[in-house]
Amino acid sequence: MAVKVIERKPLSWAERTYLPQILSGLRITFRNMFKPKVTVEYPEERPPIPVGYRGVPTLVRDPEGREKCVSCQLCEFVCPPKAIRITPGEIPEESQYAHVEKAPKEFEIDMLRCIYCGLCQEVCPEEAIFLQNTYSVTGTSRAEFVNNKQKLYEIGGTLPDKHFKWEKKRRAAEHGNAH
Ligand code: SF4
Ligand code: SF4
Repeated sequence: MAVKVIERKPLSWAERTYLPQILSGLRITFRNMFKPKVTVEYPEERPPIPVGYRGVPTLVRDPEGREKCVSCQLCEFVCPPKAIRITPGEIPEESQYAHVEKAPKEFEIDMLRCIYCGLCQEVCPEEAIFLQNTYSVTGTSRAEFVNNKQKLYEIGGTLPDKHFKWEKKRRAAEHGNAH
């Protein structure tokens, strides 16, 4: 096999002083010094979160503090990496909503599996699960990355109820159509 030897061009006097490279670097630095800043001093400074951002999935309550999830498990079935685990349960007997709806006994989302796809939010018929703007997920053990029901409601909070499920149920009950 023929070997082609390529001769290296010798460095010029200026190149040997590194001055052209240093000046070129300084030119870039000065040019960017007067441009608007695109970085933030995280974590002291937090970046603005755009509308529609898909952060950590959370469970939400309606404006009256009622659980919206009815543990239908659609989100569990649709979740591509199987990050959701639900144990269905009942609303306690003493609640006025017992026998009207179900509620999850346990609800876990493994944030080491979640890929933030948003399918759980898309599929939920009760508008109970939302990917909100929490993006900083840290921990020192695998267990810390599994958000249980209590934590999911803590970070989810309350969102405006757009379809007024409980209102519809109350009206149906008043007209003898409760199921
Ligand atoms: S965002 Fe996607 S991956 Fe994460 S829990 Fe929801 S369906 Fe699963
Ligand atoms: S969050 Fe929505 S889809 Fe998932 S179990 Fe609850 S009601 Fe069903």
